[in-house]
Amino acid sequence: MIRLNDITSKLISYHPKADIELIERAYVYSAKVHQGQIRLSGESYLSHPLEAAHILAQLKMDVICIAAGLLHDVIEDTDAEITEIRDLFGEETANIVDGVTKIGKMNFANREQRQAENVRKMILAMSSDIRVILVKLADRLHNMRTLGFQPEAKQRLIATETLDIYAPLAGRMGINWIKSSLEDLCLFYLEPEIYANIKDATAQRKSEMNAFMDKVKRDLSAKLAEFNIQGTVKARQKHFYSIYKKMSEQNLTVNQVYDILAFRVIVNSIKECYEVLGHIHSVWKPVQGRFKDYVSVPKGNMYQSLHTTVIGPIGQRMEIQIRTWDMNKVAMSGIAAHWKYKEGSIATKADERQFAWLQQLLDWQKDLKDPQEFLESVKMDLFPDEVYVFTPKGDVKAFPKGATVVDFAYGIHSEVGKKCMGGKVNGKMVPIRYQLKNGNIVEIITSQKQHPSKDWLKFVKTPKAKTKIRQWIRTEEREESISLGKNILEKALKHEGVTQSNIFKSEQVSAVAKELSFHSVEDLAAQIGFGKVSAKQIVGRLKPKLGIKENKSQGLVSKVVDRFLRPREGRGIKVDGVSDMLLHFAKCCHPLPGEEVVGFITRGRGITIHQETCRHVKKAAPDRLVPVSWDPSEKEVYPATLRVTTVERKGILADISMILTQKDANIIHAEIKTTVDNKGISFFTIEVESYKQMQDIMSAIKKVKNVLMVERI
Ligand code: MN
Repeated sequence: MIRLNDITSKLISYHPKADIELIERAYVYSAKVHQGQIRLSGESYLSHPLEAAHILAQLKMDVICIAAGLLHDVIEDTDAEITEIRDLFGEETANIVDGVTKIGKMNFANREQRQAENVRKMILAMSSDIRVILVKLADRLHNMRTLGFQPEAKQRLIATETLDIYAPLAGRMGINWIKSSLEDLCLFYLEPEIYANIKDATAQRKSEMNAFMDKVKRDLSAKLAEFNIQGTVKARQKHFYSIYKKMSEQNLTVNQVYDILAFRVIVNSIKECYEVLGHIHSVWKPVQGRFKDYVSVPKGNMYQSLHTTVIGPIGQRMEIQIRTWDMNKVAMSGIAAHWKYKEGSIATKADERQFAWLQQLLDWQKDLKDPQEFLESVKMDLFPDEVYVFTPKGDVKAFPKGATVVDFAYGIHSEVGKKCMGGKVNGKMVPIRYQLKNGNIVEIITSQKQHPSKDWLKFVKTPKAKTKIRQWIRTEEREESISLGKNILEKALKHEGVTQSNIFKSEQVSAVAKELSFHSVEDLAAQIGFGKVSAKQIVGRLKPKLGIKENKSQGLVSKVVDRFLRPREGRGIKVDGVSDMLLHFAKCCHPLPGEEVVGFITRGRGITIHQETCRHVKKAAPDRLVPVSWDPSEKEVYPATLRVTTVERKGILADISMILTQKDANIIHAEIKTTVDNKGISFFTIEVESYKQMQDIMSAIKKVKNVLMVERI
């Protein structure tokens, strides 16, 4: 078992001035709170944080990181509180412990393979301090080393998660030895027979391979010397997992995998790279199709090398990479480091920069005398532009930072987005504009009654949500405009005495639409609805086609006269002590039931009903006025005209007409004007039953977005 002394002496070896007091206190604290806890291995629990801390010392980590390693399980597995850790060991240590605890609580097991990349990014994004990931990797490495004590089902679960998530993370961190160790341990638990097979086969071939390695190194070095090229030859045995991958990819048995060894030649100049390649190919036969020139055509991430596979001295394949020292540096610090180009995964440019930088940080750190000083500045946001959240099923989805519940809903399906009325985040209700945070578990609540609105465009972040919402609004506005336009045109025609049903299916209307170059009658109706085309103009064109003569229809005047002289005119008004009076309503003030009214005795035309406040009444001789009142037993509709001033925007008429429909007011006439300063002035003549109904309508219209003023005229 590792002892505290092993850790501190290791730390002192690379950081002689390290203040180990924090580590000693963390050790004492951890021992106290974990006391009595036993690992499945039978060892005291403390052995685990000690091992993790020791791995961190092997990584040449600083005092705080090692202390955090000793404390990494105290929140999750003991009664310790994070506030206490903060008080005793400081903010930084506490933050690392907190980060490791949070990642530990997430259940990444059983995610689908395709999710793995997002999960890795989520972990990175959640770790504002790079040391969180390093502690997590140390923790996982020791857990993998002691996985044998777990039940078999759990072994598989943890090994799968490690292979999908943590081994690649270690690779990205540039810590290849952790990556290889994790992968080989995973192989041991996931494919025990294959593992044993590879182990036996390579052991049997050990001396043979050593001899081979020496021979190739000798031959290569001799070639370099022969042509007076200064260079270094490196050889290594590939780890088991990489041999396994080769076997499964190329469908080989272990004994068919000859290139268990890989070689690398590092020289001083590009010219020498090609020279060395030529010499190698002259000695050993190259395998067709395996030569890759990443020197003249570097990879997107700047990786450069010549790759070739040749038939080696004893008839077996071997891989050789040739590069300059400069290229070697880039390959080490860039994301072209080992796993990247082997997995061939596609990273975005932004990712590549992030990872390259990350790797560089770690490289610089190796050269630093005082890692403490360096690591203090290693606080970063690895993915400042993205957040990662879970679906209820556990899938991880990436969104731009600031994305909301609505973006998430559209991310699932546009039908879900459309009906989204809220969400649950980690089980709690949130509004649709709630901004997603890393690690949130998001569930969408939908309603059949919900639909997108323009306001949503103000807070959604994803292009998909934006496009879909705009699309919906356009369709919706168009439909509303079509029905409003048809309504207006029908009314206008009615005034001309045309009551033909299905007028919009008539060839006459189609002909007018065509004359005005509309694609369809719907387009024409929509334009009337939007107020871009006046109904009057259309009526004017329709009339001759429908065979209506100008003089016959007497126009509006006769209609109005008709209307006010109908026998039923004046019902709804009681004149005190009088019946059967000829009544009509004043056109100057259009009184409505509920308003104070007064009768004016005209000469020979009966009584005109005015509002009490009407200016004509005020000028009138008092002896001509008679008291009148509304008769509540009679239901009548009365015309009223509203002037609505708006900031011009598409669909505003549709919004207003919807209110009129909802409030049961019939539209008799609508007219739209646009002023020079881009305001819209619309006149709606509507039929209402009472003053109160009209007031309702006015206040509802006032609430419509971009409506500046509503007046009755
Ligand atoms: Mn642990």
